[in-house]
Amino acid sequence: MLIIIGLILAFVLVLIFSNRRTRNCRWREDRAQDVGGARYYRCMACGGEAFTTNGKPPLDCQRKPSEM
Ligand SMILES: [Zn+2]
Repeated sequence: MLIIIGLILAFVLVLIFSNRRTRNCRWREDRAQDVGGARYYRCMACGGEAFTTNGKPPLDCQRKPSEM
């Protein structure tokens, strides 16, 4: 029984931490930096940059390792 509770707890913790990873990201599009059909997004929270082609902000934070 304790093992099951531990597994559930670990699963919940993983969910929390994986959400926290991108929770603070605020993607802002910059039309001036668009390339072709790709839309440029910059994360206001961490400075990450990303391009998407579906018109929506990226799901994951694209933070550069050098800016951590
Ligand atoms: Zn970010």
